[in-house]
Amino acid sequence: MIKKVIFDVDNTLLMHDPMYLQTYQDVLKRYGYEASEEGAREVYRTIGDFEKITTYFRMDELYQYFYQKDPKYSKEFVVDIIKSTSKWVKPIDEDLREALDYLAQKYDLFVLTNWFTKEQKERLERVGIASYFKEIIGGDINPVKPSVEAFRCMVKDVEPMECIMIGDLPEIDMKGAHELGMKTLLYDYKNQYGEEPYDRILSWKEIREKL
Ligand SMILES: [Mg+2]
Repeated sequence: MIKKVIFDVDNTLLMHDPMYLQTYQDVLKRYGYEASEEGAREVYRTIGDFEKITTYFRMDELYQYFYQKDPKYSKEFVVDIIKSTSKWVKPIDEDLREALDYLAQKYDLFVLTNWFTKEQKERLERVGIASYFKEIIGGDINPVKPSVEAFRCMVKDVEPMECIMIGDLPEIDMKGAHELGMKTLLYDYKNQYGEEPYDRILSWKEIREKL
């Protein structure tokens, strides 16, 4: 029997918005760096590369990574880049809100995200869904996905098989959870993972068939 439903954030609860480029460009400009779209993409890529090699998302380590890439980046700049991400929000899908209303009546809901807890919480608050979740845990508190440890930290007082992980990426959100013995549900909103072994939904309307 399922007790905990654990959600990923990006492209699961909150869809990606190309506005990240603009917010990064604004920060680059404020610090006198080249504020082109390419400059913003470089910042985005650097964070993505860091995510692949790190165990935690920690400010000091992220700054060191930026600095090694290019010593022009100051610590204040990296702090402001992180803060700026709390502004990335698009209005949420009403089907998602209905799914959360439904699930919250039956289960305890949690968030497991690789990005910083505070910023992710602020984004979820901005769209009015933070209160659905008992805990919102980021990569500065838990090890980052896809490590099995990230999922183990969410289990706590229940068994892995009493948890289900919902996310949009097979390698990041499903694999480690499955290895630990959690149930998994892939949010395949682009309908591109039909070959993957994971149970999936293509839209939030299907959630009642699964849980
Ligand atoms: Mg995601």
